[in-house]
Amino acid sequence: MQQTKQLVKARNISVKKLEMADAHCHIDLIQDFSIVTSAIESGVSTIVTNAVDTKSIMKTLQLADNKHVFAAVGIDPEHSLKMEENTFDEEINFVVNIIKEHSRSIVAIGEIGLDYKIVGGFENMAKQRDVFERFLDLAQSLRLPVSVHSRNAMKDVISILKERKQEKVHVHFFEGDAKEAKTLEKLGYYISIPPLDSSKRKRVVKNFDINMIMPESDSPVVGESPMSVEKSIRLVAEAKGMDFEKAVQMLTDNVKRFFNISSAANVGLIRY
Ligand SMILES: [Zn+2]
Repeated sequence: MQQTKQLVKARNISVKKLEMADAHCHIDLIQDFSIVTSAIESGVSTIVTNAVDTKSIMKTLQLADNKHVFAAVGIDPEHSLKMEENTFDEEINFVVNIIKEHSRSIVAIGEIGLDYKIVGGFENMAKQRDVFERFLDLAQSLRLPVSVHSRNAMKDVISILKERKQEKVHVHFFEGDAKEAKTLEKLGYYISIPPLDSSKRKRVVKNFDINMIMPESDSPVVGESPMSVEKSIRLVAEAKGMDFEKAVQMLTDNVKRFFNISSAANVGLIRY
């Protein structure tokens, strides 16, 4: 009898596996896909993977099963700069058309944004901004959320988003200060937290609305695999002084809410 009770207890524990979510990664860059499969099996049951250029889009769309892996599609600031002048419009239109074609199955436009660390000159700043705004327009017209990259550019990113009254925004790998975080919070924007310890970010998290924080692995660039979100969740739990399990539950709900992913993983039917 005692043994049976223990067995039931053990089974209940395994059934109650924690369901984690990764709000931002690039699994098309992970060579060995078994790394992703094992992260899913270990509990990272929702993964949002971002295409960053024309090359990574097809692979990203192929990997998205809309059950565990969901696609965001865009052109990031680094790749905006790599586009040649004579094929610039052609490349943008190619990506825009793919997004339009798949607008019911992709969960966001991303990643897009500004990166002043790599920009090197005013002309390139304008080029990045042009690409960023074209995709923000598209997101508004398709009523899709956006996943935004911002490096050394938070001031401009905020003013662009604010001016345009952009809806449904997620600033990934948030690196801004407390004041910038408050501005985003007031605008109803979400932020995501990478698996990197930083006292500045911890202070931001401590004062940011828990309902608008998401965990991200940014793998394989920062974390090794989507499994690294476990560390991001721990950092949030610590900063908020909350229980790890509770943090898992809340942050997973945030990711699903932001990207309109229902529990049945039936995506693309509801827009904000
Ligand atoms: Zn990224």
